[in-house]
Amino acid sequence: MTVTHRPSRSEAIARAEARGQRIAAVLPYHYPRALLRAHGFHPVEVWGPPGVPRDEGGRHFQAYTCDIVVRATSFLLRGGLERAGVLLVPHTCDALQGMGSVAGDFLQPSQHVLTLYLPRAGRPTDREYLVAELRRLSDRLAGIAGGRPTDAGWADALAAEEAADETLAALYRDREALAVGDREFYEVVRSREYLAAEEFVEAAAAVPRGTAPSGIGLLLSGIVPEPMSLFDHLAEAGARVVADDLAAGARRLYPPSDAADPIERLADRLLGSPPDPTRGTPIAARAAALAGRMAAAGAKGMLIYDVAFCEPELFDVPLLRRHLGDAGYPVAHVEVELGGELGHRVITRIEAFVETLA
Ligand code: SF4
Repeated sequence: MTVTHRPSRSEAIARAEARGQRIAAVLPYHYPRALLRAHGFHPVEVWGPPGVPRDEGGRHFQAYTCDIVVRATSFLLRGGLERAGVLLVPHTCDALQGMGSVAGDFLQPSQHVLTLYLPRAGRPTDREYLVAELRRLSDRLAGIAGGRPTDAGWADALAAEEAADETLAALYRDREALAVGDREFYEVVRSREYLAAEEFVEAAAAVPRGTAPSGIGLLLSGIVPEPMSLFDHLAEAGARVVADDLAAGARRLYPPSDAADPIERLADRLLGSPPDPTRGTPIAARAAALAGRMAAAGAKGMLIYDVAFCEPELFDVPLLRRHLGDAGYPVAHVEVELGGELGHRVITRIEAFVETLA
């Protein structure tokens, strides 16, 4: 069974423009959606895109820079982001910090290049820092938009984005009662990358209810499940993703905040996101959280599916393997390029891993 039609990325962009919103191209992966909306921008995320050649972007970075940064820079240089008025580059990692500098200082595209520095811990000083950083971003957006959000604009943006975030959380909570395979499930989850909040809520509501397909339970970790045919290969191997630790997935399940000030509210929510290597979560805490999630979901092992050269992910792999191994969970790690279809070597490794869990 498949879900009903969802707007494509280009349809979502056209609809946003028709509503009078400007487009903000956003690099991965933590950022304040409601802040953009309150200032009149519709965020459309850029995870590569896969398949865009590395050549042009590659000239501006070391050879060991990940595909997301290099292919996104190629895409920018080729005019792929021409409908965007703003390019927002969060400081997720050194590679993205480098991209923010290269784009802003050297490439100087037609888009306004904005950055967002995220703290690496959750102390009161980190919150203060993030609040100041979000206010700085808000000032830049207000300068570009020619005005600040009204109270009603803030209320609309917060309500809409929080409803969409709650919808995403409900999709994960109700996973076992959704009659779709992993590929369909993650196509809906990932439509949050470009749909308006209301469109995403509608897309989630259209997912058929029933019983999820069976399979050997896996926790899928990493940055982004590209190509999406990964899920077809997992299903063919007899596996099912029963939980995830994906940057493009459950790492963006933001908790609610009761702060009255909109910016403080956004800061609280961003700082409350699940354990995450790009946010400096200590490895023992991250491993314990993952083991808890695997136990709750019935996962038998964890597949770390990384974009090649992703440093924040790679740093954690050896210790994660040890901690989770001690807890009885085997871990497999594969690296891929965002160039097209999955290679046979990776497919074979995944199939062999699933066989060991059967
Ligand atoms: S894949 Fe890793 S290194 Fe590349 S942008 Fe994402 S977090 Fe940074």
